[in-house]
Amino acid sequence: DLQLRNVGHSYGPVEVLRDISLEIPQGQILCLIGPSGCGKSTLLRFLGGLEKPSSGEVLQIGSPPAGTLNPLTYVFQHFALLPWRSVEGNVRLVLEHHALSRREQDEIITDVLARTRLSDFRNALPKQLSGGMRQRVAIARALAVRPAVMLMDEPLSALDSQTRELLMDDLVSLWTRKPFTAVYVTHNLNEAVRLGHRVVVLSRRPGQIRQIVEIDIPLSERRAGHPVLEARQ
Ligand code: ATP
Ligand code: MG
Repeated sequence: DLQLRNVGHSYGPVEVLRDISLEIPQGQILCLIGPSGCGKSTLLRFLGGLEKPSSGEVLQIGSPPAGTLNPLTYVFQHFALLPWRSVEGNVRLVLEHHALSRREQDEIITDVLARTRLSDFRNALPKQLSGGMRQRVAIARALAVRPAVMLMDEPLSALDSQTRELLMDDLVSLWTRKPFTAVYVTHNLNEAVRLGHRVVVLSRRPGQIRQIVEIDIPLSERRAGHPVLEARQ
């Protein structure tokens, strides 16, 4: 489990976050929502250990699940794929630093490409793919390291609304078949109520938790038009 304890942060004189305490339970998707500039990406960087908060602590409790190669991995808005590498090559990239045989790498690649419906595009270059497919490659790459926690920063916001709907369905079926743990930052309330087991709402600056909503409807039953979700919006 990943835990934030009383995390606060300032950039120089500007206070960005104040007193954030959160625990990310195993196997759950925690959505982080709030206005632009409230510190969502900053919080994600703290969770990923890329930066240290000015106060409070980030703790990793217990050992990561068996088979984990990288405990934390990111999925960004703009995919961050290497343009000169194929789909397969982009996934292989994150496996090359690990003590895996070529054959073990191939097995993982085959598995994650199947799970993200990309098996037929294994040798394609990113420029030959639609935006939604590119983001599926980024998701496949994140899954390949079997992370304890996936840190997703507005992964769907560069996509048109129709593609976003499809990707949400993909994420739901991925999660349903094999639950993963994620912190999912979004501006979009619709995404948060479709994908979040918990939705944490941050207030405008300095970012503070305003509300935590637990949504106990199974992800697979959350459809646009679900009465409870409509009421929450
Ligand atoms: P958005 O929804 O627009 O992505 P956000 O909630 O992710 O916003 P952050 O990117 O975390 O917000 O930024 C929070 C605040 O911290 C902003 O006011 C931003 O200008 C400031 N900030 C972020 N990174 C730095 C930095 N490296 N140096 C100085 N200020 C920063
Ligand atoms: Mg951000």
